[in-house]
Amino acid sequence: MKKRYAEVIVDIAREELDRPFRYRIPEPLADRVVPGSVVRIPFGRSGREIEGYVTGVSDSTDYPEDRLKEILDVQTGAETAEARLIALAAWMSRMYGATMIQALRTVLPVRRAVSEKTTERVCLADPDGAAALPGELRSRNRNAMARAVETLLRESPIPRGRLMKEAGVPLSVIRRLERDGVIFIESEASLRRAKIEAVERGRDVPSGEQEKALSVIRREWSEGAGRPVLLRGVTGSGKTVVYTELIADALAEGKQAIVLIPEISLTRQTVLRFVRRFGDSVSFLHSRLSEGERYDQMRAARTGEIRVMVGPRSALFTPFPNLGLIVIDEEHEETYHSEHVPRYHARDAAEKRAELEGAHLLLGSATPSVSSARRAELGIYASVSLLSRFGEGSLADAAVVDMRRELSAGNRSIFSDLLKETADRALSRGEQVMLFLNRRGYTGALTCRTCGCVVRCPHCDVSLTLHRNGRMICHYCGYETPALRVCPSCGSPHIGGLSVGTEQAEEAARAAWPGARILRMDADTTRGKEGHSAILKTFEEGGADILLGTQMIVKGHDFPNVTVVGVLLADLSLSESDYRSSERTFQLVTQAVGRAGRGRKKGTAVIQTYRPDHFSVVCAARQDYDAFYREEIAYRKILHYPPEGALMAVLGTSESEELLQTGMTYIRKYLKKLDPDDVLCAIGPAPMTVGKIRDIFREVIYIRNTDPDKLVRAKDLIMEYTACNRGFDGIRIQFDLTL
Ligand code: ADP
Ligand code: ZN
Ligand code: ZN
Repeated sequence: MKKRYAEVIVDIAREELDRPFRYRIPEPLADRVVPGSVVRIPFGRSGREIEGYVTGVSDSTDYPEDRLKEILDVQTGAETAEARLIALAAWMSRMYGATMIQALRTVLPVRRAVSEKTTERVCLADPDGAAALPGELRSRNRNAMARAVETLLRESPIPRGRLMKEAGVPLSVIRRLERDGVIFIESEASLRRAKIEAVERGRDVPSGEQEKALSVIRREWSEGAGRPVLLRGVTGSGKTVVYTELIADALAEGKQAIVLIPEISLTRQTVLRFVRRFGDSVSFLHSRLSEGERYDQMRAARTGEIRVMVGPRSALFTPFPNLGLIVIDEEHEETYHSEHVPRYHARDAAEKRAELEGAHLLLGSATPSVSSARRAELGIYASVSLLSRFGEGSLADAAVVDMRRELSAGNRSIFSDLLKETADRALSRGEQVMLFLNRRGYTGALTCRTCGCVVRCPHCDVSLTLHRNGRMICHYCGYETPALRVCPSCGSPHIGGLSVGTEQAEEAARAAWPGARILRMDADTTRGKEGHSAILKTFEEGGADILLGTQMIVKGHDFPNVTVVGVLLADLSLSESDYRSSERTFQLVTQAVGRAGRGRKKGTAVIQTYRPDHFSVVCAARQDYDAFYREEIAYRKILHYPPEGALMAVLGTSESEELLQTGMTYIRKYLKKLDPDDVLCAIGPAPMTVGKIRDIFREVIYIRNTDPDKLVRAKDLIMEYTACNRGFDGIRIQFDLTL
């Protein structure tokens, strides 16, 4: 039966139109009105003709038939990039419990009111010929244009915002000058192109092992879409070479490719490798782009000017007309999981997009997520590995040091004797050292040694971190206060930093290696726009001997002169109350060990821990992914945690703790009514790991089932229940689904 009604969204950039409108589909258009098509509709009282996106179609409506207006025409059917992204948005809204508008805003590039912060610069087209122009313009009473040209004669190019201010002209004057050909506007994109042209093009010829992996993947994809491929490659095995070859395949077929990488890995090295291979067909997204720049890139992707898009999570929604390949590098990274509604996981959304568009999906990692490894084990993904490092690099030797023994042997320093000696030797040979501080958990907290109390942020449910400048800072909300000298609860003066933060570690390192030049990299030292890459560049160029930092130093950087990596406290992430804590520890430690010996010289990793027997530490030291996976998946199976069952978190937040507790308890009761036999294994409500942030209380209920559809249905019912119940007005409910 033909669908007769359509839901149409009118303008996703305008809040007041933030809901779908119902229209009738005229018989002759019935085949062409599908989710994703762009239609012309009469709108509002005046019946003004505007465009809208169809988000859904149905064959019944509870709205009085005669009050419905009719769709006038179909602009584009389902064949456009937008249409397919809208279909993806529909899936996201259903899976992750977002409104269709929220999902559309996530997947479609939205041109909001042009922001003044754009980096567009205005240039005079013909500086020599322009000298006489102001006089001429004045004689025709074009005073504003004359002022703009005078300003440009003093300075060109000039940022557009400044030109408007200094000459005192509105945007329309600049547009007019542009139309008349007096000026041209230079965008970030055109500057980018100029820079890219300066890079010499080249291709890394795949090694034997890489070639073998490629042929397995090509065979998998030779007919039809083929399965997604999980590429497990130890650090340094050359996964990027495999990616670029497959991207080249896609381009040769006239298709386009998306490469997702964690933003932190978007280093100069990485950018250059892609530019060298793909020249100005490749473009990069990152969070420092203005909305306008982002929009320009999305437009360039749609028109075919750009054919490869590299960037973080959101690059997944690049509107390529004929998408051939999606690569997700470091697929295990948590940054692929969005923290905004819709709280999608880029891996799952990519799988869906690839399916909708007939594109291939390649997931790469040295330490695949347990979820992806499980899918590979089940044959849902094909799997391929690269087990040796490219060229002469070999895997580092790793030693596990039990810090409890160090203490009992009289070493009170945060560096074990082994790390101290190993680093001494490397430094004396002119090699470099990386010290990695696993800083998850309660490090740097001010703790009372008498009563054990920890000083907490008054606005967030986390401990404050002690900084060397004598202040305590909340890393969630920025709250700052002078460090206390006595315990606020018992008055004891024995209060101090519990374990090491990066600043304390830096101080200790300066004492341990007095002659060495030390760089510290953490959230505080990288705050500036270029802070992050500047520090890495200095280190790469040999401007320092020791690089000390948090997780951000272990991700994806390639320093051939680093021969020693010290993991200061490997097990801190194990103390987190999350079923993924072993997985995280294994990944972090493995990645850290992988940083050692990337060049010609053999590397050594020293892993310091209080839990030397924990399997995640032991397996990471041996770089034994399979052993880790076997143990971890057994545990997940017993407890029915993902990937052995889907898990949905019902997240509630509110300014009122009481309201929140009542509301969440009602949701739990409602669940009991829906599901008297508790097949959803509901747990909670309980405060989240961090129970309060910026004075907003946070509680969670978990439900689990092997069938994700059951969870999605429960989510829909909870959404209905909370929407029609006034008691939930002061509570925000979000859903987070892990497959
Ligand atoms: P991974 O991403 O698997 O850790 P990379 O792709 O970064 O590994 O490769 C590690 C290093 O080896 C890089 O410096 C890269 O340029 C080099 N390399 C890998 N494969 C090749 C190749 N086939 N030809 C030349 N250099 C290569
Ligand atoms: Zn105390
Ligand atoms: Zn705070």
